[in-house]
Amino acid sequence: MTEKLDVLGAKIDKVVLSEAMDIIKEYFEGSPCKMIVTPNPEIIMAAVKDPELMDIINNADLVVPDGIGLVYASKIMRQPFKERVTGIDLLEAVLSQLNHSGGSVYLLGSKPGISERAAEKMTGQYPKLQIAGTYHGYFSKEEEEEIIHRINSVSPDFLCVALGSPKQERFIYKYKDMLKAKVVIGVGGSLDVWAGELKRAPVFYRKYGLEWLYRLIQQPSRYKRMAALPVFMMKIIFRGKM
Ligand code: UDP
Repeated sequence: MTEKLDVLGAKIDKVVLSEAMDIIKEYFEGSPCKMIVTPNPEIIMAAVKDPELMDIINNADLVVPDGIGLVYASKIMRQPFKERVTGIDLLEAVLSQLNHSGGSVYLLGSKPGISERAAEKMTGQYPKLQIAGTYHGYFSKEEEEEIIHRINSVSPDFLCVALGSPKQERFIYKYKDMLKAKVVIGVGGSLDVWAGELKRAPVFYRKYGLEWLYRLIQQPSRYKRMAALPVFMMKIIFRGKM
């Protein structure tokens, strides 16, 4: 069990990327299916208003601090996370591990065609990685169980769900106990990045924790969602007083 930090009710594991990977490697050795979430301030703010989402986060097996906002928050709370563990870095590390072990990944989500392209890029970079399957993320509620059956028929080691937050977390939580995958994670827009649809922030932005700014420049329509960030910081600064 790792130490956790309670950030506005969301209990986040105090892990760096290498520690998260040690835990995930153990998950690949066992069963049942383990759920990883990578909350950022936006998701935590959504969970503050939605107790069901907060429960989902707090019932996940591994909760990593995604985003510089969480690192700042932890510093203000005087229990600093050593580093942020972004979803995209964690995904890369897990794919590299699966390449090493010859494990398999199933990519569920994103627009039709994207998960196939992401899979091609992944096997280009990781030739021993097995692609167990791909399926787009624009399905109806009625199709959900059929999709779970498809995934279970190939029982992948790792299932990536790219439906955006919090849709993907709700979906994973609903079906987690039925899933024949060893590890499942919500990866947001990461398949778009792998497929080359969206660019990952250049090193400069990553170094200074400005991925959010790069993302806003690429997708200005996200400004409303990002407005949650200053509110999050205010809540942290005035915690217990607001
Ligand atoms: N998406 C999907 N089905 C949906 C809604 C979204 O597959 O019903 C995909 C969308 O195509 C994109 C990803 O989910 O690839 C969500 O990306 P977004 O950047 O909104 O997620 P975030 O990173 O903010 O969680």
